[in-house]
Amino acid sequence: MTRNDQLFNRAKQIIPGGVNSPVRAFRAVGGTPPFIARAQGAHMWDADEKRYIDYIGSWGPMILGHGHADVLAAVRAACEDGLSFGAPTEREVELAETIRTLYPSIDMVRLVSSGTEAGMSAIRLARGATGRNKLIKFEGCYHGHADSLLVKAGSGLATFGNPTSAGVPADVVQHTLVLEYNNQAQLEEAFALYGDDIAGLIMEPIAGNMNFVRATVDFTRACQDLCRQYGALLIYDEVMTGCRVALGGAQSLYAQQIPGFAPDLTVLGKVIGGGMPLAAFGGKRAVMEKLAPLGPVYQAGTLSGNPVATACGLATLAAIQAPGFHAKLGDMTRRLMDGLTQAAHDHGLPFCADSEGGLFGFFLLPELPQNYTQVMKTDGKRFNQLFHGLLERGVYIAPALYEAGFVSAAHTEADIAATVAAAREVFAQMAD
Ligand code: PMP
Repeated sequence: MTRNDQLFNRAKQIIPGGVNSPVRAFRAVGGTPPFIARAQGAHMWDADEKRYIDYIGSWGPMILGHGHADVLAAVRAACEDGLSFGAPTEREVELAETIRTLYPSIDMVRLVSSGTEAGMSAIRLARGATGRNKLIKFEGCYHGHADSLLVKAGSGLATFGNPTSAGVPADVVQHTLVLEYNNQAQLEEAFALYGDDIAGLIMEPIAGNMNFVRATVDFTRACQDLCRQYGALLIYDEVMTGCRVALGGAQSLYAQQIPGFAPDLTVLGKVIGGGMPLAAFGGKRAVMEKLAPLGPVYQAGTLSGNPVATACGLATLAAIQAPGFHAKLGDMTRRLMDGLTQAAHDHGLPFCADSEGGLFGFFLLPELPQNYTQVMKTDGKRFNQLFHGLLERGVYIAPALYEAGFVSAAHTEADIAATVAAAREVFAQMAD
């Protein structure tokens, strides 16, 4: 038995499913997840000393790759000064100011410890600030596991959502309306029906939780226009896209195409913490001042703005502000997508891919999907074959077909070439 197998068996005795977050358990693809012993640059080594090219990057935070020297130095120094104080520190202010500089839609920001917390708090704030109840979310977008977000569409617009998790009372999701991504007509209908009570619309601008699906420019414009028309807040969940698809997130890209575009609230996480538990939400001053202790919307956290996490985030954000950082990252990612697409097509397999900055998605489909239903048309068995074929060859992609992929600045041309070569071998088997 391999050491990975031993560890997984041991883990399953004491941790439900052997993991602390479900997707890590390989439930969709089967098999034993590698237990990671260490990582450096674009590579990780498991408990059996097998090396992988890492396209998960801790699900997004590791945009610089693992073990970046400046980040480690900043974290080490911060540790020496103290792990946590539960009192304000200068680094929190510095990080908040950096975020404001990178995101012009953000006047004020609050730091928290996870994307879930940030999303949940932003929604409470939207409700508190507008005095309304209802929330629009889109099928296939993930905003963390707050109760009111674990919901799928009811039948038609007349019925609100149904819980997708046991333990969530139907009452708790009764205010969440789940709509189809990129479906403008349905969105208009929803606002026409419920507009007076819609507090906010939360969306991933480029959805990375249904693999990789962009909101079209027209749909994005409609989201903003309808929110403004009806007095609802547009909440951009950039936990995954923030600082990754571009320094200023997806909103900076849409703002190039839609004059005056700006979300009312933005949710950030992952990259801004550089691999430490750190996330944030921010937006217009008048809205953010509704938060406690200034306003009536309660929100708090023992480890919020943690001094080690803020040091890690600041060092990460400093490094990614180097000139040309995202252009180079985007180039490398695109090269990977082009190589994989070519390899699949050479073997006559349906395949398409898209990417922005260091975020990518590919599909065993002939055309890029526009919404969750289309994404889920992917043949799961074929994806599993691809996944395991790559893993065997030392290439670690997300173990589920509805997850995006991540390239870091540490990935080299050699990594990309090795990945495409591995994929070529797997595609050859799949085409047989
Ligand atoms: N929003 C988005 C877009 C995410 O991708 C995630 C996590 N993958 C979250 C929110 C939740 O963040 P966390 O896992 O840090 O709670």
